[in-house]
Amino acid sequence: MINVYVLTYYDSLEENTFKTLLETSVKGIFLDIVNGKSNLELLRKYKDYINNKEIILGVTNGRNVWKADLLKIKETLNEFKDLNISISNGGPLFHLPITIEGEPLDEKLLNKLAFANEKLTELNILRELLNENKEEKAKKWIEGIYVSFGEIKEVKEKIKNLKEEDFVRTPSFEERNKIQRELLKLPLFPTTTIGSFPQTQEVRKIRALYRQGKLSKEDYETFIRGEIAKCIQIQDELGLDVLVHGEFERTDMVEFFAEKLEGIATTKNGWIISYGTRGYRPPIIYGDIKRPAPMTIKEIAFAQKLTNKPVKGMLTGPITIIAWSFVREDISNEEVAYQLALALQEEILDYEKAGIKIVQIDEPAIREKAPIKKRDWDEYFKWAVRAFRLCHSKVKPETQIHTHMCYSDFGEIINYILEMDFDVISIEAARSKGEIIKDFEKVNFDREIGLGVWDIHSPVVPSVEDMKKIVERALRVIPKEKFWINPDCGLKTRQWQEVIPALRNLVKLALILREEYK
Ligand code: GLN
Ligand code: ZN
Repeated sequence: MINVYVLTYYDSLEENTFKTLLETSVKGIFLDIVNGKSNLELLRKYKDYINNKEIILGVTNGRNVWKADLLKIKETLNEFKDLNISISNGGPLFHLPITIEGEPLDEKLLNKLAFANEKLTELNILRELLNENKEEKAKKWIEGIYVSFGEIKEVKEKIKNLKEEDFVRTPSFEERNKIQRELLKLPLFPTTTIGSFPQTQEVRKIRALYRQGKLSKEDYETFIRGEIAKCIQIQDELGLDVLVHGEFERTDMVEFFAEKLEGIATTKNGWIISYGTRGYRPPIIYGDIKRPAPMTIKEIAFAQKLTNKPVKGMLTGPITIIAWSFVREDISNEEVAYQLALALQEEILDYEKAGIKIVQIDEPAIREKAPIKKRDWDEYFKWAVRAFRLCHSKVKPETQIHTHMCYSDFGEIINYILEMDFDVISIEAARSKGEIIKDFEKVNFDREIGLGVWDIHSPVVPSVEDMKKIVERALRVIPKEKFWINPDCGLKTRQWQEVIPALRNLVKLALILREEYK
C-alpha cells in the first residue's frame, strides 16, 4: 500500500479545502503554521473530525532566518495532544542560505539566526524537548532570540510622529508636470535607460580586488569614476536624452544599499536562488534603519558634472529592499518599510541639493511581494504604496520622480500603482509586444510612461522596425506627449557589443517618431 500525504505551505489552507481533504483517504496533511496564520484555527475547529489522519505541522520558518521559540511551540502543540502530530520545517529550505557557520556577523545577531542546516538542528532540539523533555538544551538554543539590539530611538520617534501629509506630495501631478516640462525641456519621445550598464568581467575583478584589500579605496573609486565617465560619454554620443551613471559601484541593487544603511547586515556566503541559475545574497534587516551618510550622491553628482543632459539619481525602493532581504519580525513590515522610506527620502533631498533633477526609485518587486491570496492585497498595497510615497513626498515640484517595474501582470495591480504618485513609470512591453498597454486603457492613466521596447533578457539586438510596431500599438492608447522610449530593464547582464547597437536603434526610433508625430 502506498500512502498519500498532501503538503501545503507558504500560506493557510482554505477551510473548504481542508474539509475536503479530511474526507479523502489521504494518510496525512502538512500544514505550515508559521506562514499560514489561520492553519491553527482550522486545526482547532476541526480537531474532532481528523479521525486517524496524520497531521504534520510546519513549526519553524522555512522562509526566514530567525530561530523559533521552541518553548512556545511546545505550548502550542500541547493543545493537540490527542491528535497524531509530527513536526517539520514550515516549507522548503531552499529559500535559506546553507549555514551560518563562518559568517563574520555580530555575535548577538548570530545567536538569533538559523539558516537551512541550523533549521534542521533546531527541529532536532525541538523533538528532544517534546519527546524527552530536554528543556535545558532548548533554552540554550533560544537564549539570544529576545535580546534586543540595533534599536534607534530617534528612528522610532520619527515613525511615531509621521502624519498624513508626510505621505502626500504637493502640488498635484498636473501642476508639477507643467513645471518639470518647463525645466527639463525634453523632446517628444525622450529616450533613457533603466540604470545599470554592463557589469563586465573587469568591473567584477576590480571590485573583488578591492574587497580583498588588494586595491585601495582611492584606486577603486578612481576606477569607478573612469567607468562612469566612459558610460556618460557613450550615452552622450548615442544621443540619449536622460542619462544614468551606470551603477558600476553596485554589486546588487539591494545589497549595495544594505551595506550603506545601519540596521541591515550582509553575509559572506549566504547565497540563495533567485531564478534559473541566478543567485544572490539577501541582506538581513535586524534593527532600526538609519542612513549614516549619503549613499549614492557622490557618483551621481560626478556623472552630472560631465554632461549637460540630466542624469537620473538611482535608488532601490523600500518594498524591493524588503522583498529581497530577510526581515526582522519583531516589528511589522510596514514599519520597516517606513524606516527605509525615511532613509531614502533623505537621500532624495540630498540629490536636490546636488542639482539632480530626476530621481528613479526602482520597485521591481512590488508585485512579487504581494500576498498569495488576493483578499490580502488591499492591506499590503496600502502600506507598500504609502512607503513609496513617503520616499518622495517632500521633494520640490520640479524634481521628476520616476519608478521602474519589471515584467509583471500590470492589469491586476494598476489601480494600486497609480496611487504611488510618481511622475514617470518605465515598464516592460517588449515581451508582451505592447499588449500590456491594454491594462492602461482601462484606467485613467495620466502619468508619463516609458515603454520597455527592448527585451534585455535576450541577446538579440532589437531592430528599429520591431520596436516601432510596439510603440505604434501603444500610441493608440497613450498620448504621444507622455511617451518615453527605453529598454525594459537594467543592462548589467548584457555585453557592450549588444548594448551599443541596440541603443543606437532605440535613439534612431525616437528620431523617426519625432518626425512622424511632430
Ligand atoms: N536600476 C536597476 C538596474 O538597472 C533596476 C533593476 C531591476 O529592475 N531589477 O539594474
Ligand atoms: Zn527591471
